[in-house]
Amino acid sequence: VDFIMIYCEKCGSITENSNVEGDSIRRDVCKSCSFIRYINPKIIVGVLPVKDESILLCKRDIEPSKGKWTIPSGFMEMNESLEDGARRESIEEANCKFDIIRLYGTYSIPVIGQVLFVFLGKIINNDYRAMDETSEVRLFPISKIPWDQIAFPSVKFFLSNYVNDNSNGKKFLFHSNFS
Ligand code: ZN
Repeated sequence: VDFIMIYCEKCGSITENSNVEGDSIRRDVCKSCSFIRYINPKIIVGVLPVKDESILLCKRDIEPSKGKWTIPSGFMEMNESLEDGARRESIEEANCKFDIIRLYGTYSIPVIGQVLFVFLGKIINNDYRAMDETSEVRLFPISKIPWDQIAFPSVKFFLSNYVNDNSNGKKFLFHSNFS
């Protein structure tokens, strides 16, 4: 099919893909009530939790990439800040508490409309453990990171930058994939 019917989320009438005045992107506009359907990227917040020279990783217990390692991260919720979201996800997945060192970087994935914000966090508790969506939590020295078992390119991006920064003595750079 080259045409998919999209119905208005306000009134249920048929929409039409059209140009909106003052807008460079075509939108689905309701033919009946003129409601404009905007589709925007979602924000994912996460943390690179570090302790001394090691990084805490979570083994995913859910698809996608079940069984592979990732950093605590997830979709940002309404009524929370980036920092709140990173803290919540870190607790939910690893019971890991941290002090924020800085915003470590961003990673855009335009093709699926996702933007990641990742903090560098200093772990402040010792009872981190596998929680929902996680089968195992482990501290990896940077020389022992399981590179062939990392869940997503974005996670690999932040991990490899962290390792490079450490070896260059520039721990606190900001990184972006500039997509
Ligand atoms: Zn409508």
